[in-house]
Amino acid sequence: MLNRADIFDAIESQLSPASAVDGHLAVMMLRVEGLREVSLRFGYAIGEEAHVRARDLIRGALRPIDRVFSAGEDSFALVLPGLHGHNHVLLAAARLLQTFELPLHGLPYPWQGRPEMGVALHPGHADTPDLLCRRAELALADAHARGESCVLYEPREAHDEIVYEELREAIEANRLLTYFQPVWDLQRGAIAGVESLARWTSPRLGLVSPASFVGFAEKSGLIQALTRWSISTTLRHAAMLRAPGLTFAINFSPRVFARPGLVEQLMDVLEIWDLPPSVVVAEITETALVNDLASSARAMQRMRDRGVRIAIDDFGTGYASIAYLRRFPASELKIDRSLVCDLRGDPRTVKLVQSIIRMAHHMGMTTVAEGVEDQATQELLTSMGCDYAQGYHLGHPEPAGDFVARHARAN
Ligand code: C2E
Ligand code: CA
Ligand code: CA
Repeated sequence: MLNRADIFDAIESQLSPASAVDGHLAVMMLRVEGLREVSLRFGYAIGEEAHVRARDLIRGALRPIDRVFSAGEDSFALVLPGLHGHNHVLLAAARLLQTFELPLHGLPYPWQGRPEMGVALHPGHADTPDLLCRRAELALADAHARGESCVLYEPREAHDEIVYEELREAIEANRLLTYFQPVWDLQRGAIAGVESLARWTSPRLGLVSPASFVGFAEKSGLIQALTRWSISTTLRHAAMLRAPGLTFAINFSPRVFARPGLVEQLMDVLEIWDLPPSVVVAEITETALVNDLASSARAMQRMRDRGVRIAIDDFGTGYASIAYLRRFPASELKIDRSLVCDLRGDPRTVKLVQSIIRMAHHMGMTTVAEGVEDQATQELLTSMGCDYAQGYHLGHPEPAGDFVARHARAN
């Protein structure tokens, strides 16, 4: 669907003095929030129909000289020449917003989308089609993060772009490292599996914490690539290990979890390595569930149907109501570190964790305690009937290759 060459051509012709219209050129990336949902809910054919309708709506709100391109399932690239400054851009954005105010008819149900826009201008923000598009996309990511409908690129973010290029390159060249941290079966006193954690050492910035680069990847659209990388490297190590019974937990960001194609991608990699789906535990954070409840639940169910286990990560810190739990096909609850580290000194936390374990078991789920840093906490959790645990006391994350070498030898 994405035809970058056409988009670049349209921008290029507005950059060349011979054919350019006077004034500013704006490149706008527009994402229609909720458009992807239409495919998921009603099928791809209807999703495509809605995409075409949305494109027509956008076209109808613009001037004849403006160009509109499909830039993804739910997004569009707009080339708007001859604008007179920032206000003119905001005017175009306001028209676009207005266009989407009425529900779209002709689909199985009236449907309403909400546009989010990111804009980069020439002259001012960039001088090439590539940079204009990327800066418009960064602005779009910002609009999404801030919950605003239209954001102009802010030049002070130049720093982010260097990181963007570096991180993109590091993912593509397979320069991130995979670490495995053991997950212990508390009741059997044996290793049950591992959680896969990414590590990145940037030549310029040194060791970057996953909290920052995963967060950055989510914001900048690199998260799909990161997830693809994480699935394939984790399962490659799993295949080398050939240790029946061990599970491999992979972290899935909220943003990718509900994307079409993710489940198939995971299945393909499992097939390549001839591994059963039951070796994978897909970890998703509780907050993700709140943001995109319906589509997350559907993706989870599809994974579950194929035999992948689902864990709700960081349980106890997010905002999800416990009542949501009954709607999700999760097989595991990971009790957040912040609760686990208070266990020893706080009787109320003990009661709370005890209740979480009981509730999980009652609903047919197992429990994993995160952040176990001492023997006393491990014993306490074991006596409380917690199934699994993870933490520095039981094993630090280590390079996956080292883990594989040790455990392959032990087998
Ligand atoms: P998480 O999923 O909650 O992962 C557990 C984090 O707790 C890891 O931090 C781990 O190193 C740390 N940890 C483990 N045991 C202990 C302990 O006993 N005490 C303390 N204080 N910390 C412990 P890390 O590796 O820095 O990862 C941070 C977060 O980044 C992860 O949180 C996860 O959300 C995300 N992340 C890491 N790798 C990936 C990845 O490949 N893909 C995605 N999407 N996210 C990732
Ligand atoms: Ca996790
Ligand atoms: Ca966690």
